[in-house]
Amino acid sequence: MSSAAAEILALYGARGARAYFGERVSMTEHGLQAAHFAQAEGAPGALVAAALLHDIGHLIASAPDAIEEWKSDAHHEESGARWLAQRFPAEVSEPVRLHVAAKRYLCATDARYFARLSSASVHTLRLQGGPMSAQEVRRFEGERYWQDAVRLRRWDDQGKVAGLKTAPLEDYVGLIERLALRRKPARPRSLSARRRRSRAS
Ligand code: FE
Repeated sequence: MSSAAAEILALYGARGARAYFGERVSMTEHGLQAAHFAQAEGAPGALVAAALLHDIGHLIASAPDAIEEWKSDAHHEESGARWLAQRFPAEVSEPVRLHVAAKRYLCATDARYFARLSSASVHTLRLQGGPMSAQEVRRFEGERYWQDAVRLRRWDDQGKVAGLKTAPLEDYVGLIERLALRRKPARPRSLSARRRRSRAS
């Protein structure tokens, strides 16, 4: 098994059984359900993996279990995306980085979306800065992976069904390993560009 797959199984094994903040599913069930809905829509493998791993930031850092204790946003999307970017291509890490912004985006652009948010999700929306301004909406739509992030966000919101039967985590090991192989090492071109810059200065 690749080291990324082993690390992911270990993280879910150690912390995945905890309740997903303020919802009736565990962290592991939540990720599996998001991936399940992504697959049901025929999403590409990288986006299925992004759905599965979108909350990995909660597993690598500990936040209080009770959502009422959240005094500020823990920025789990950034820590999670950084962790994923070291192991997977941008098609996996970028939608994860943007999935909280996608919620603020949807709250600003889709009135029906806001009406359907769970109470826990409304609570975190406030900590996350509320709905986006028109300027933030334009900036968000300039992100390369913004549409993937919006799709991921909807699966994230769906993945809170108590008792839903899904495939087990182990079924995703093959996908995780294939994607980890696709991560491109830092390009030599940027290295020489850096050298040119340092010579110039
Ligand atoms: Fe989530």
